[in-house]
This record gives sequence, C-alpha cells and structure tokens, in this order.
Amino acid sequence: MSGTIAEMQNPLAEDIPGATGFLTIDLGALGRNYAKLAALAAPATTAAVVKADAYGLGAVQVAKTLASKGCRNFFVAQFGEALKLKPVLPSDARLFVLNGLQPGAEERCASDGIIPVINSVEQWDRWDETARILNRRLPAAVQFDTGMSRLGVAFDHRADMESLIKASQHVDVLFVMSHLACADEPENEQNDDQLSEMLKVAEAFPGVPHCLANSGGVFLGKPYHGALVRPGIALYGGSPVGTSANPMEPVVRLDIAVVQTRTVPAGTKVGYGGSQVTDKETRLATIAAGYADGLSRALSSRGAVYFNGVRLPIVGRVSMDSMTVDISALPEGTLTLGSRVEVLGPNQTLEDVARDAGTISYEILTSLGHRYQRRYV
Ligand SMILES: *Cc1c(COP(=O)(O)O)cnc(C)c1O
Repeated sequence: MSGTIAEMQNPLAEDIPGATGFLTIDLGALGRNYAKLAALAAPATTAAVVKADAYGLGAVQVAKTLASKGCRNFFVAQFGEALKLKPVLPSDARLFVLNGLQPGAEERCASDGIIPVINSVEQWDRWDETARILNRRLPAAVQFDTGMSRLGVAFDHRADMESLIKASQHVDVLFVMSHLACADEPENEQNDDQLSEMLKVAEAFPGVPHCLANSGGVFLGKPYHGALVRPGIALYGGSPVGTSANPMEPVVRLDIAVVQTRTVPAGTKVGYGGSQVTDKETRLATIAAGYADGLSRALSSRGAVYFNGVRLPIVGRVSMDSMTVDISALPEGTLTLGSRVEVLGPNQTLEDVARDAGTISYEILTSLGHRYQRRYV
C-alpha cells in the first residue's frame, strides 16, 4: 500500500492501528505554494509563518520542507514553539517569536539564538538589559501598531521607542514590522492607512528594512512587500484573497471512515436532541469524526461530506466522535464499514467547510484533530 511508503518516508507520522480519520498533507503542494508566493514577492524575501504547529499541519515537517525550498526566515507566535522548532532548522535560518518574550525567557532566548519580535517598551527594556548583562549584541525585530491595536508599540509610545532604539548599545534591529488587519479585503481603506503608517515608522530608521505583508498583503502589490513578507495561510492552501478565486494549491486532504449505515423511515429523529427529523425514508451513514476532531458542532445540519463527487449532507448534531450523513443519493451498498468519505479534498475546500461552520479557514486548519492518521506525501 502507498501508505506504507509514505510512512517510511515520514517516520514522524505516527501510525494509528484501526485509524478512522485520514489526514493527507501534500508537502509538494506546500513547496509550490511557497515558490509561487516567493516569485510574487521578489525581490522581497519570503518568510514562513509556522505558528500553531504550522496551522495544524505539523511545524517540523512544514519547516523542513520550506527550508529545502530555500526559506530561511520562520515566524512562530510563542517562545515554546520556537524552542521546539529551532533544532530542526538549518543553522543559517532565523526564527522569530511574534508575541515577543514573557519576563524570564530572555536569557534562554539569547542562548538558543531565537529572535524576539519586540512589541512594547517593556519588552525592549528587558531584551536590552539582557544584552547588557550578557555583554553581547542581541538581534531583535520591532513591531509597531499601525492601526490594529493588537500587538506592537502603541502610537503614543512610538517616539519613546525610537529614542530607545537609537540610543541602544546592545540590540541590533534587523527590521521594523507591523501587521495588516484587513489584507484579505483589497478594497478596504485600512490597508492604505496601515501602509502609510508603516512607511512613517520605516522613515525614522534609515537603512532598517520593514516587513508588513501576511498572505493577503502579498497580493496587495509591491508597495506592501517591503523587504520581507510573512505568509501563513496561503502556504497551507487557504485563500489569501477574500473575494476572488483562490490562487493557491490545496495542501490538505481529509477523509473519514464509515462506521455504520442504516435505513430509517420518514419521521425518524437523528442525533443528540433529536434536532433533525427525516422527512422521507433515508439512508444514513455514521462517520467516525466529530467536534473533538475539529469538525465543529456548528456544522450540525449544515455541512456536508462527499463521496465520488456526491454531496452527503450532515444530518442532526455533530457529536464528539462521530456524525451522521445522508447517503440516500448514493446507490445502496456503496458505503459500508470502512468506506471513506471526503471532508476536505477536490470536492470541498477549506473555505467551503469554514463557511458552513460560520468561521474562517484558519480555524478549520488549526482545529484539525490529533486522532487522525497523518500522511505526508
Ligand atoms: C499569523 C500572522 C501572519 C500570517 O498571516 P496569514 O494571514 O496566515 O498569512 C503574519 N504576521 C503576523 C504578525 C501574524 O500574526
């Protein structure tokens, strides 16, 4: 079986006997998505955002693949994520922590060669002090708020931060950065406002590069690219553009096994709460994944799975470990114990599932379950 070959190539993929969920991660497509973004962003450098276990796909496998495609700049959100990733990266790769450091993590960060994104004067003072105590120069990126009010030096601290940076004897600022709040909406005026704030910050530091674009930002055009772009979702096949067709290649496929099938008469209650009642004789299949596997309860009576291109609507509430789908559209006997239906794949995109669940592709990916048999191909 091809799965055996995939496992031999990917010893990190844990083999789960009797697995009922099958998550396939196409590292080839991941590499092509990286190359596509890098070509669009050139001459800017293309980094990779691999926070939250590379959006649920496996940070180690993803980072190794992207490193083999030439990526040398990686962003995680938390310091703990950086500690796990650092040993598998090439020695010339740079690893940045978007949230910066919590008090007490500075020395470990310095000794492990991880680079904090400094978001505030407090974080700056601690990093600068650490460099002074260690009597060495330390690198940092510095993030400025340009209109999202989430992370980064606040507008009213900008002048203070500029003087601190200019006066520092110990910290090398590799680049200044900010984050776009509406990059997936090309028409949104906030993009322009944030770009002009970013350029104002950059002007204060002649010779220091700047970094602004996430996936959506890469598609907003050259002025947004700066020296370094930071895509995440587009690498993983999610759409970086809210409105137009998704230019990226899908990376994730998810199939779920059938546990049981039955035929019920009209008027039969299905699932917890008896919330959905059949209106005709219906053939049902119970499949072995539920909200504990990242298939949100919000998909109850709304979402669907597919078999050979045929849509099979979810009937009743999604349970923790299973859900029931209407298979009446398939010839009788098509699905039996062990048959697999498609949740994500050629018939149903991340965006489709996200829409049915009332969320975004990011949340679908980062919620992907840990009970799936993962195959990296
Ligand atoms: C998550 C994140 C990114 C990546 O965003 P995508 O929309 O997934 O491309 C980039 N920069 C920052 C600061 C982030 O938090």
